[in-house]
Amino acid sequence: MRLSQMHLKTLRETPAEAEVASHILLVRTGMIRKLVSGVYGFMPLGWRSIRKIEEIVREEMDAKGGQEIHMSAVQPAELWLESGRWYAYGPELWRLKDRNGRDFCLGPTHEEIFTDIVRNDISSYRQLPLNLYQIQTKYRDEARPRFGLMRSREFIMKDSYSFDKDFEGLDKSYNDMYDAYSRIYTRCGLNFRPVEADTGAIGGSNSHEFTALAEVGESEIAYCERCDMAATVERADVKDDPADSSQMLPMEEVYTPNTKTIEEVADFLGLDKKQTIKALLFVKYDELGEEDGYVAAFVRGDRELNMIKLVNALGLPEHAVAFADEEKMAAATGCVGGFTGPTGLHDCTIVVDSELVGMKNLCAGACKKDYHIKNVNYGRDYKGDIVRDIKTLKEGDPCPVCGAPVKHTRGIEVGQIFKLGTKYSEPMGAYYKDENQEDKVIVMGCYGIGITRTLAAIVEQHHDDSGIIWPVSVAPYHVIITLIAPDDTVQAAAAEKIYSRLTEAGIEVLLDDRRERPGVKFKDADLLGIPVRITVGRGAIDGSVEYKLRRETEKNDLSIEDAIQAAIQIVEKEKKGM
Ligand SMILES: [Zn+2]
Repeated sequence: MRLSQMHLKTLRETPAEAEVASHILLVRTGMIRKLVSGVYGFMPLGWRSIRKIEEIVREEMDAKGGQEIHMSAVQPAELWLESGRWYAYGPELWRLKDRNGRDFCLGPTHEEIFTDIVRNDISSYRQLPLNLYQIQTKYRDEARPRFGLMRSREFIMKDSYSFDKDFEGLDKSYNDMYDAYSRIYTRCGLNFRPVEADTGAIGGSNSHEFTALAEVGESEIAYCERCDMAATVERADVKDDPADSSQMLPMEEVYTPNTKTIEEVADFLGLDKKQTIKALLFVKYDELGEEDGYVAAFVRGDRELNMIKLVNALGLPEHAVAFADEEKMAAATGCVGGFTGPTGLHDCTIVVDSELVGMKNLCAGACKKDYHIKNVNYGRDYKGDIVRDIKTLKEGDPCPVCGAPVKHTRGIEVGQIFKLGTKYSEPMGAYYKDENQEDKVIVMGCYGIGITRTLAAIVEQHHDDSGIIWPVSVAPYHVIITLIAPDDTVQAAAAEKIYSRLTEAGIEVLLDDRRERPGVKFKDADLLGIPVRITVGRGAIDGSVEYKLRRETEKNDLSIEDAIQAAIQIVEKEKKGM
């Protein structure tokens, strides 16, 4: 491709709304183009890289026996009502009506559609296992789209679904996908980590998130350096402190004026925060969006509540639980803002962190303004409607597996795999007949890769101040020939020779034949991040060109022949990304 003919518009300036490197660079290189908030199109270079990522994904899916199909993005509401997700998915589900008022959504994922296919087509154990996948545009009406392709409302995803006879089969399918994902992200040049994850709106029993490590990532992960524990902070178990064997002391109401926070009350009474109970107050919403009762959650004063664990404990989707209006809640339940404890509450669901059960003589709000109660004990003074680990694993807390202090890091979720089990096949009636002609439920898994988000993650991990540094496997082109003086016949002939020789060898080449100053061409070559640059300038008359890799600072003067060979060699070696 000749740059003079290419549809390319690079930007010198950083776009105002772009905050992270991948967003800035994908816009500045002209690879992506914003249409409206959270909706992007792809220009020639961007689309080439997207297709390379897709090809890697296809190869690895096919290698595990996956079969590619392509379903509609438009999905009828009926299927989502059958699975129960029309409500559970919440406001992120992009809903629409046709001219006759029938409800549809733009699919954020396709469990219902694939389950529907299989329940219609599969009747015998002989047809299982089966793995179907697609690469397709998905929609999620994000409240706050941001970071370019990282959190967008329209995105490209690979989603696959496995169908097995039993849970043993699912384990194998899941492990196959785990392997395939590890190969895919390795081939894309990502530094990634598979971590245990919450199953969220997809559901099921087990899940791993594949996280590309990056400071700007929205996923917070906890990991252990001594053992191999690694989980999203939302999912990570927390070890309860050992139970306290002290004697229970009698409850004692104490005057604690203006001590609304845990810090204030602990300071005022000279207590450690570990000797206090923290209260968090919530309201629940029903399927119609009406208020549907209150929740008071209690954790030890030094702990943080984990919202995902709380909604899971309540068996509700995340969007059905929100912080309560304290005054309204006070009238209904007897709570008192800043002075709420578990002993004076009524008419609300009380969720108690499991650790509190073994703690003795803690200080809690008295549900009375300016008062706390000392020596509050679980069992004797209060009980939970639900008792569960609802706290957050913080950096430095003991590892839930081995006890060593855990570390935190951040990353971009580029894929997630789920053991769905029978979560969809059971309610939607996807059965097969086994060897004895008995009806059995199909056991499912589902597996997603954010293709567009993977592109952003690659740029996030592969760039410097001058631009992108593409790994060869996903680079829009492998080599850029920077022709310094297009009007110089010797230089032009040398550049053409290199261009045609490389092209014949199957190398993807950009020839910068624009009538621009050399400085502009070098800047653009660095910005675009093409892995190999061959500069054809004055040395061409002696048969010499400059050879440089984008990822290295070193430049070498080589003969034209040597430069061609060096480029072919490195591209052949690295284009598979393994
Ligand atoms: Zn550990």
